[in-house]
Amino acid sequence: MSLSDITSRIAAAEVAAGRAAGSVQLVAVSKVQPNERVAEVLVQGQRCFGENRVQEAAGKWPEFIKQFEGVDLHLIGRLQSNKARQAMELFDSIQSVDRPKLAQTLARLAQELGRCPDLFVQVNTGEEAQKAGILPGDADGFIAECRALDLPVKGLMCIPPVDEESSLHFALLAKIAKRNDLSGLSMGMSGDFEKAIALGATHVRVGSAIFGERVKPVAGNEG
Ligand SMILES: *Cc1c(COP(=O)(O)O)cnc(C)c1O
Repeated sequence: MSLSDITSRIAAAEVAAGRAAGSVQLVAVSKVQPNERVAEVLVQGQRCFGENRVQEAAGKWPEFIKQFEGVDLHLIGRLQSNKARQAMELFDSIQSVDRPKLAQTLARLAQELGRCPDLFVQVNTGEEAQKAGILPGDADGFIAECRALDLPVKGLMCIPPVDEESSLHFALLAKIAKRNDLSGLSMGMSGDFEKAIALGATHVRVGSAIFGERVKPVAGNEG
């Protein structure tokens, strides 16, 4: 697969779902990909990228941001509070807001910095013990808490369990977003982004289908 294959498939899925052309943003997940591959995709015109570790992103993106105009960088991995400042300075969106303590830290830093990236609340739709995210039953309360802190919550994000039908999780995420009046839905990866678009995804996070299999295994999902 190449970038243009994926963008064509996204366009076709938008049409199939009766959605406006361009209503789905592709977040190209570049974690652990060699810089040459990332540069190729930038040269082909892609500007929105996802990374799951702050440290790794800080090592490669400042240089690309100098070279390519309009880069839109999303943090999609777990964010430790002690890296929150660095993340807020580097990323345009943080999709992994998953706990009250982090929300409070982000709110304090937003005051201090006078700006805040767009935020997505990560929901652990599969209620998996090892996975980050707020539980579905706690989502409404947590979203209200973020709003009370004046945080710019734009939407929700989920990573369904690997062994379950992802559509059920996408539908649940869409339902939680709707009742909380949130328009952003980050859901769908290489194997299921078309299903996610059918269920309302506004952001799909596609890595291996664009870049090929990741060379190094990713040890966890820590920011
Ligand atoms: C790695 C990753 C992706 C991309 O996964 P692919 O299957 O390679 O498309 C999407 N979302 C998150 C949170 C990830 O960590």
